Amino acid sequence: MVLELYNTLTRKKEVFKPIHKDYVGIYSCGPTVYNYAHIGNLRTYIFNDLLKRSLIFLGYKVKHVMNITDVDDKTIKASQKNHEKLNDFTRKYEKIFFNDLNELNIIKPDYVLRATENVQDMIKMIQKLLDKGYAYKASDGIYFSISKDKNYGKLANLKKIKDNKERIKNDEYDKENPQDFALWKFYAKEDGDVFWEAPFGKGRPGWHIECSVMSTKVLGDSFDIHTGATDLIFPHHTNEIAQSQAATGKNFVNYWIHTGFLNMKEGKMSKSVGNILYLENLIEKGYNAMEYKYMTLNTHYRMPLNFSIENLDASKNAYQRLKNIISEIKNDKKVNDKYLKEFTEAIEDDFDMPRALSILWNLIRDENANGKIETIKKMDEVFGLKFLEKEEIKIPSEVKKLVDERERARKEKNWKKSDELRDKIKKLGFIVEDNENRSKLVKI
Ligand code: AMP
Ligand code: ZN
Repeated sequence: MVLELYNTLTRKKEVFKPIHKDYVGIYSCGPTVYNYAHIGNLRTYIFNDLLKRSLIFLGYKVKHVMNITDVDDKTIKASQKNHEKLNDFTRKYEKIFFNDLNELNIIKPDYVLRATENVQDMIKMIQKLLDKGYAYKASDGIYFSISKDKNYGKLANLKKIKDNKERIKNDEYDKENPQDFALWKFYAKEDGDVFWEAPFGKGRPGWHIECSVMSTKVLGDSFDIHTGATDLIFPHHTNEIAQSQAATGKNFVNYWIHTGFLNMKEGKMSKSVGNILYLENLIEKGYNAMEYKYMTLNTHYRMPLNFSIENLDASKNAYQRLKNIISEIKNDKKVNDKYLKEFTEAIEDDFDMPRALSILWNLIRDENANGKIETIKKMDEVFGLKFLEKEEIKIPSEVKKLVDERERARKEKNWKKSDELRDKIKKLGFIVEDNENRSKLVKI
């Protein structure tokens, strides 16, 4: 059995061969912290975590690195609009981001690097690109000359690159128009107090150089896997490859893995379209993070996923049914090798989570199968869906007060009052079950 994964660079499934014997290096493009991460972004972070968990399940050790983009055009603009210092502003969103990851039972990456704390290394890489002749100085910044790179655009399958010096200062632009891109943006009044001194002029880094530097800083010039959603193939990842390989003269990344987009009825979910939902919105509507996560696992990570409340409802029902069934199964302490093997094969086939979930369902439905609980435990090391955790029921304070009152009434043997209170509690969605000397609260 071997692990095969789809590589955007070659557009086919390839057998995975790690560079180092003792670990697999993964770099994931992290959030730009000027707003909450929406549930589309979270789909991508859920998959990054599944990828890591899968590799660990298959016996690899993993070094997982993620960056925080805490300086770029968007963070600067948004912090100014809020009249806050860039760092104060971005840290708030960084904190909320990690709370969301925690809620989704995503393991925090082993290394989290902030762009603002790695600017000196970015200056060094830019200097190297200038020295090697891949970069040039223009009036508003230092630019990478894409015509100097014979392989430019392979990841995005770009056609012939025009040999001109059109250039673009924005970090994001259209695939139809590849241009020289900014490595360093010279200070402009709009940047306020956000700048760093550099030998080639005071300013701030472009977005693409941030990731080239933070990934190689921890994982070395060449590493195994780089992730992100499909929107990053061009220009971000295309430019990361160009800069890194020009600076080091070595191959940058062996496997590029891209997640499909989470789409809404109106098209892709994105901050610029404004059709976004946050995890908090789903929780307010009565869903929990695991139910959303279950929904994302039901579609292959490379496919677009259409979000709808109907789809989320179906996932909620399926997830809760699974959990209920699992809670009734006795643990015979055995492992079911047949189902575990099938599950492993699904994981090894480009992380086929929908298939892995259906194998879990088959195991549960199989009346003759033994070793169910221990096998589910192993599967959940990959899913991270908390199948074996008891749900923590949040009891509203109003209900708590009524329960206390009822306890007092029972102690005073005031059965009439105690029954009235039981009815009131029921109306609020809870049943009180009286045992000999304790009462138990059950959610209806
Ligand atoms: P950002 O914070 O905009 O830099 O995006 C963070 C991550 O979310 C990146 O890996 C993006 O590729 C990914 N992403 C952005 N929008 C979506 C979406 N609608 N569905 C899935 N992933 C997304
Ligand atoms: Zn990146």
